[in-house]
Amino acid sequence: MKQKISSDFKLGILGGGQLGKMMIQAASKWDIEIHVLDPDESCSCSALCHQFHHGSFKNYNDVLEFGRKVDILTFEIEHINIEALKVLEKDGIKTYPQPEALEIIQDKGIQKQFYSRHNIPTSNFHLFNNKKEILNAIHDDIIHFPFIQKSRKDGYDGKGVVFINDVHNLNRLFDVPSMIEEFIEIEKEIAVIVSRNENGETNTFPTVEMEFSSEANLVEQLICPSEIRTDLDHKAKELAISIIENLNMVGNLAVEFFISKNGQLLVNEVAPRPHNSGHQTIEANITSQFEQHLRAILNYPLGSTKLLSPSVMLNILGEPNHTGKVFYKNFETCLSKEGIYIHIYGKKITKPFRKMGHVTIVDENMEKAKEKAKFVKETLKVISND
Ligand code: ADP
Repeated sequence: MKQKISSDFKLGILGGGQLGKMMIQAASKWDIEIHVLDPDESCSCSALCHQFHHGSFKNYNDVLEFGRKVDILTFEIEHINIEALKVLEKDGIKTYPQPEALEIIQDKGIQKQFYSRHNIPTSNFHLFNNKKEILNAIHDDIIHFPFIQKSRKDGYDGKGVVFINDVHNLNRLFDVPSMIEEFIEIEKEIAVIVSRNENGETNTFPTVEMEFSSEANLVEQLICPSEIRTDLDHKAKELAISIIENLNMVGNLAVEFFISKNGQLLVNEVAPRPHNSGHQTIEANITSQFEQHLRAILNYPLGSTKLLSPSVMLNILGEPNHTGKVFYKNFETCLSKEGIYIHIYGKKITKPFRKMGHVTIVDENMEKAKEKAKFVKETLKVISND
């Protein structure tokens, strides 16, 4: 067996965004050779990886060719070519998380059917091929207002999700294969990242609580540890472990939940990779989610996920009305306070609400951490001087 650390072992990452960049930062501690495939030569990973391969992770031939140059593959985005991964698997080049698990997750409809099959609590849903079928189902009293439509494939960060509250909104329906979900009155949104290695060892990170920006439809701030009831916290971790085991998956799996106003814990969706809801683990936990993902896919013992400190994590988003060469206004001012860690992803161009970086604030007192987060939110601005 080839040694993976400080050797000629090569780990390939499909996708060169910020999650890949932070995975490389963790891998460089162990001197692991990283190859990256991405269509954008100026992506966050290109200047950091050992070898950058220009190509599309959605393209069969590009993925096949890239996969044959490495020993193990992983990915930092779900929208990748699974057929190529399956061919590589037959040739002995493994992808973790496995293509079979990714196939279930990539299609939100198949993902929901998986929850039903395994008695994982989730909101009620129906699957449709097009808009006409949905209109017929409304007419036949099969689905009722208000509801949420989600396109089965290629959605992210709220794109491909539409809220329909009455007959006047029906013009907003997408005419694509989609899932209609009952509308849940949400009290809180939480997430648990669970990891599993090839030996079947599992471990969960502390539960985080998410706060959304209604304007950008993105997570604006998250806090850890969450302030939810202990029984719900235990249940969420149990469910996360049950999902990763039923998927027979190796790697990190982020499980997003709703806690409804009537106290139900429901799985919303999962992501088989390091996740936005785990960025604070870099500074606030003994092991970061990026190191844990590497430990899992390389079949090393999983690390302790214990908290070192309470934390708040903020995404740094491009200001509305600013597109062009990026400038970080008041960067220095934010560095002047204790416990503020700024991560800049290296995207050269800012666009409205584009994820340009994140900030983790650690403080032994959660209220103080929240105050500092408010200061950062009001002070640090991503603008363009173009
Ligand atoms: P994405 O994959 O794009 O992140 P999600 O399924 O997470 O999409 O939906 C985005 C957001 O929409 C959720 O975080 C939640 O706030 C809201 N949402 C999604 N599904 C429902 C639902 N069934 N009821 C109420 N709100 C929902």
